[in-house]
Amino acid sequence: MLSIGIDIGGTKIAGGVVDGSGAITRALRVDTPESPRDIEVAVAAMIRELRSDSAIRAVGVAAAGFMNRERTIMRFSPNIAWRDEPLRDRIAELAGVPIVLENDADAAGWAEYRFGAGRGRGSVAMITLGTGVGGAIITDGELSRGGLGIGGELGHARLIPNGLPCGCGRSGCLEQYASGHALRRIAGEIAESEASGIGAALAARRGADGQIPGAAIADLVRVDDPGALEAVHRVAVSLGEACGSFAAILDPEIFVIGGGVSMLGERLLGPVREAFRSALPAANHRTLAEFAIAELTNDAGVIGVADLARRADNRDGE
Ligand SMILES: [Zn+2]
Repeated sequence: MLSIGIDIGGTKIAGGVVDGSGAITRALRVDTPESPRDIEVAVAAMIRELRSDSAIRAVGVAAAGFMNRERTIMRFSPNIAWRDEPLRDRIAELAGVPIVLENDADAAGWAEYRFGAGRGRGSVAMITLGTGVGGAIITDGELSRGGLGIGGELGHARLIPNGLPCGCGRSGCLEQYASGHALRRIAGEIAESEASGIGAALAARRGADGQIPGAAIADLVRVDDPGALEAVHRVAVSLGEACGSFAAILDPEIFVIGGGVSMLGERLLGPVREAFRSALPAANHRTLAEFAIAELTNDAGVIGVADLARRADNRDGE
């Protein structure tokens, strides 16, 4: 059975026809238009095009932002000027077909639980280390949207009291210490303070704007540059400590780590596991959760929301 998944990102809208095994059989991609209205029209056009040549049973749309628990209203989106937007019905009307709406991090987490690094497990916590830090929680095979719709915002758990200000309006959130943005900032600090020592290679990779590009940091990590590894280590310690607290609340079988920073692989996960173990309550008297890198990368949102739409359709048909 086929379903459609659309993932509305800040720069691209990705869409695909997805089969029951989570494989994408047809894909489309367009630039994200400027205005919220044009985005809705572009999504509807993509749905109509993908529906034209297949036996599609259900359509899902994922986007970043705070939604109501029923997934009909986009209350607030950080990158797109939706405010209390009846997004589900708006797109459904434009596309001429019912849709299922989901938060993009939740959709990506669901994809990893069903078809990626979390498959075969009942309880999964997914943490996406992108520009910010996204979270998704699957407990006993169900996506936890929270009692009020905004569960699983793991990136905004407070890690450091009176810490760095965060885009959410508070301070000290995990996002400020373990995102791609945080890694670049920390690498910049090491380049600054250790310019004649371990930060020399990082300092040499500063661009015209004074920033060190993420790709340059990744290159240096790959050749085990001590300054770049130190930056990764600091990010990993923050993430591992936060996961110790998350485990106290959620007790997942596995933490799946996704997003651009996760491309660093075991050089990231090694110190994450160490910090996790030292931050975990009663670590010597419990089974330790596993850590794994996400497998579906950029397609996770499309695959996850297509599967959630198919699942909702099956339930309606029961
Ligand atoms: Zn925050």
